Amino acid sequence: MAEVKKIKFNTKVIHISQKPEPPYGAVSHPIYLTSTYEQKKFGEYDYDYSRAGNPTRENVEKTITSLEEGKRAIAFGSGMAAISAILSLLKSGDHIIVSSNVYGGTFRLLSQVYNNFNIAVDWVDTSNTEQIGKAIKETTKFIFIETPTNPMMQLSDIRSISKLAKQNSLKLIVDNTFMTPYFQRPLSLGADMVIHSSTKYLNGHSDLIGGVVITNDNPLAEKLVFLQLSVGAVPSPFDCWLLQRSLKTLSVRMKRHNSNAMGIANALEKSNKIKKVYYPGLTSHEQHELAKKQQLDPNGDPGYGGMISIILSDKEKAQNFVNKLKLFTLAESLGGVESLVCHPASMTHASIPYEKREKIGIVDGLVRLSVGIEDSEDLFDDIINALNN
Ligand code: PLP
Repeated sequence: MAEVKKIKFNTKVIHISQKPEPPYGAVSHPIYLTSTYEQKKFGEYDYDYSRAGNPTRENVEKTITSLEEGKRAIAFGSGMAAISAILSLLKSGDHIIVSSNVYGGTFRLLSQVYNNFNIAVDWVDTSNTEQIGKAIKETTKFIFIETPTNPMMQLSDIRSISKLAKQNSLKLIVDNTFMTPYFQRPLSLGADMVIHSSTKYLNGHSDLIGGVVITNDNPLAEKLVFLQLSVGAVPSPFDCWLLQRSLKTLSVRMKRHNSNAMGIANALEKSNKIKKVYYPGLTSHEQHELAKKQQLDPNGDPGYGGMISIILSDKEKAQNFVNKLKLFTLAESLGGVESLVCHPASMTHASIPYEKREKIGIVDGLVRLSVGIEDSEDLFDDIINALNN
């Protein structure tokens, strides 16, 4: 048989585990909405029960595995369930190092749930690899980073942190929700596990809640599959099908989120109504050089995604701005085709105590924009109108 040429990202997203299916050759796969399966004979079966395995779930897991260049993806019912599965790999007495600015739900899970199981956490500025080195203890098992972080858009250097992790026999976990494998493939930079809230860009249509962990380490994958089965936070076949369908347009969506956000960030930087714009694509971003080298599309061109954070002078100005927007919908979440706006201090990051929030930059005047794929001129006009009225 002729050797099959290694297929590229945009081909994988459409073709991996999506061949037309017997008996009818359906190009769009059927959804296996079943909880259980007939066993051919006593103990002989492909699938036995849908918490343990489901063809629709397995298909989307295979596609995501190929995009993240891993060996196995394990899908969960939410991003938090995916993070929780990773934390369930730990034992009482273990210690982990986590980026000081992470999604508020990750903070809440560690500080109000896993603290009860004696998992110790050091919140570290992981944009500084040296600081991570200083926090490593005898009991440290994981380094968990978000890059860029939600909502401060701070980057951590995946390659240098993975080196440090390997030197100290630690596992590096990267929350890749903001970049997606289209713009960043952490496993290829040395990370051991990648997590996504697939609720966001992977799905991109704001119509499901999901999460996924991808790894290139077979023993870790086996443990995660065991946790998926044993804890049972699995996504429904319908949500897996929606995710598979949505992934097909990941590249075109990400390119457009990126170009829209780049244009808007550049324009916002010129406005005297805004104190600061955080977007890794701006040369003024403190880690623009790292972004240019770490966040690359499958052709090797840099990309910065669709998330922008801005600081207005105070909470009142922030509220006024948000209330005046017409195309950006005030809502939690991000990464959908439609533009959203959020006030992190009172919404996504409200579970972080005020002092800690202020310290990491989530001030009351901070507003986060999830730039959609609408016409950028319309989005820009909406923002200018809201700023000037
Ligand atoms: N990670 C990041 C970066 C997020 O922004 C979120 C949610 O906003 C999560 C994880 C949690 O994902 P989910 O809401 O799907 O549980």
